[in-house]
Amino acid sequence: MGMRITILGTSGSAPTKDRMMPGVVLTYDGSTMLFDCGEGSQMQMMKYGINFSKISAIFISHAHGDHIIGLAGLVRTMAMNRRSADLDIFVPRGYEGIVKTLISFDKALMTYRINIHGVGSGVVYEGKEFNIRAFHLNHTIPSCGYVFREADRRRFIVEKAKKLGIKGAMHSELQGKGWIKVGRRRITLQSVTTVQKGKSFVYATDTRPSRRTVAAARNADLLIHESSYSESEKALARDRKHSTAAEAAAVAKAAKVRRLVLIHISARYSSVGSLEKEARSVFMNSEVARDGEVIVL
Ligand SMILES: [Zn+2]
Ligand SMILES: [Zn+2]
Repeated sequence: MGMRITILGTSGSAPTKDRMMPGVVLTYDGSTMLFDCGEGSQMQMMKYGINFSKISAIFISHAHGDHIIGLAGLVRTMAMNRRSADLDIFVPRGYEGIVKTLISFDKALMTYRINIHGVGSGVVYEGKEFNIRAFHLNHTIPSCGYVFREADRRRFIVEKAKKLGIKGAMHSELQGKGWIKVGRRRITLQSVTTVQKGKSFVYATDTRPSRRTVAAARNADLLIHESSYSESEKALARDRKHSTAAEAAAVAKAAKVRRLVLIHISARYSSVGSLEKEARSVFMNSEVARDGEVIVL
């Protein structure tokens, strides 16, 4: 199944004329999910062709304004559009009230139900062929990263199965039972199938580089990690509990991810070439995202 990831905004703390506030959309097998909802997220979604009425769940990393302010406008527009489906919003435990306050304008306008869930660590959301797990990051207030993981899939080795006389409905019987008898022969599911590993994507912002992120992102296809600063502002990164480009790249390297995409770039950088270079000196497959970038996994 194809995963499509759209980066809505790549700035941190404040927008610039080229970079909007944090937000990442994931579409997978008919589901649309949003990670963080910075100011202007609904406009970014319109701009980049995302149908936001289809969003079923929003995963908030933490309750700093740059990651949640967009919720107020988005939930209101959904009501104006007469949404009827429930909307689930996930936020680190203890911060449910802030989200509730932020979205409690225009109660009379509401056409749908919003369920706000406080999260810690563990699986928080399950779809048909995937789940989403939260884990703790290391920031100035409680902040959560999220791991999207597609279920592993078993695929028949067509030639082999055919040769052994497996056809039609026998495939589903074999899948259900784990073995089947063909003539006098007992054939196991393992002997005629291979396991195709599900894809995974990890969203980690705002945070210092963390061993927990390394563990959560182990062998992931994609890690989207914050990179507020460059190494020359390392002290600031430490102070404000953010990461430098090199630190984010070290996390990607330790976790052996396939690809690193950097977001949450401080507004002080008008050009990101040096940040990208810094990350690549540690982990080659790194890039600084641009607003509207689409990644297909
Ligand atoms: Zn932030
Ligand atoms: Zn923050």
